[in-house]
Amino acid sequence: MEYNFPVTRTTNPKPRPEDETKLGFAKYFTDHMFCMDWDEGLGWHDGRVVPHAPIAIEPASCVLHYAQMMFEGMKAYRTPSGEIQLFRPDMNAKRMLRTNERMCMPELPEDLLIAAIKAVIKEDIDWVPSAPGTALYIRPFIFGDEVSFSVLPAKHYRFMIILSPTGSYYAANDGGLSTTRIFVQDKYIRAAKGGTGYAKVGGNYGGGMRASKDAMEYHCKDVLWLDAEEHKYVEEIGTSNAFFRINDEVITAPLDSGTILPGITRDSVIQLLKKWGIKVSERKLSIDEILAASKDGTLQEIFASGTAAVISPIGWLNIKGEDMTVADGKVGPIAQKLYDNLYGIQTGTVEDYMGWTYPLGLCRK
Ligand SMILES: *Cc1c(COP(=O)(O)O)cnc(C)c1O
Repeated sequence: MEYNFPVTRTTNPKPRPEDETKLGFAKYFTDHMFCMDWDEGLGWHDGRVVPHAPIAIEPASCVLHYAQMMFEGMKAYRTPSGEIQLFRPDMNAKRMLRTNERMCMPELPEDLLIAAIKAVIKEDIDWVPSAPGTALYIRPFIFGDEVSFSVLPAKHYRFMIILSPTGSYYAANDGGLSTTRIFVQDKYIRAAKGGTGYAKVGGNYGGGMRASKDAMEYHCKDVLWLDAEEHKYVEEIGTSNAFFRINDEVITAPLDSGTILPGITRDSVIQLLKKWGIKVSERKLSIDEILAASKDGTLQEIFASGTAAVISPIGWLNIKGEDMTVADGKVGPIAQKLYDNLYGIQTGTVEDYMGWTYPLGLCRK
């Protein structure tokens, strides 16, 4: 379908951050945003690009009380030739369908998502950064805003996209990799079978903050979640998926429990490792197996994968208050190679030998 979204340009453009090495994560927002409405009978309508600004919302809107919302996280990258490109946006669109189905929210077609992203980036193209480690973070989200306290799916929704020029999530100043410390959470859980673990929804995060606060008390950046039933098997790390390299096998939690967020970076890591002939398994892995591997010297690497962080190597696991060093605590070779290839493909400095990039047809030198 052809979409044509009217644009209201800002009359008051913001100064852009001058130092691209100090962008941080989602500290700055661009000049414009995308908005669209959904009504029963009408479907999605009135897509538009408008100045980024606060929105009015009725205090009795259902999302503020019962959290019927979803979001996605993607990035746009500027290649050396000035072309702006996305990374596997079809995967975000497909995940969005599964999330919306779980949340009883209306479907958003893939071509609409991409047309909307393109329309708003076109207005803010000067905001796409190009320094090493940077990208334009894209946050599409949908929420129910019917005025209602009945616990039923809303009859009115809003779809919005906001944009933020960002640096690397766990900032090392040169945009490169550094290791972090992660807290193994054995008290609180993120998701149980039958819950919303596989859906990208705010509720999963609201319920997880208690656990992240604990992690900070142990000087940890984030939480390694264990399974809800036995508190034994590793699931994910905070806002990213987790990989463990033991005895030359790279292991990540399987998706079949429905408690793991199916990361697009996770899928890309698995495909790259397979292509490189490295053994990779989607299987259950217990924290005891990791501890044993650490003791006998076969634990080689742990890293997290996600759009925000790309690849984030883990140097220490904190288990019940005690630090366990992962190998020598330094960035591992597989994590480094994955980062170099993924970020290289995303930014067009490494040839896209996987067919993953999606040029938007927008160019800015
Ligand atoms: C978004 C997200 C991920 C990573 O998914 P990507 O598609 O790789 O960005 C992992 N875990 C959780 C909980 C997430 O919300």
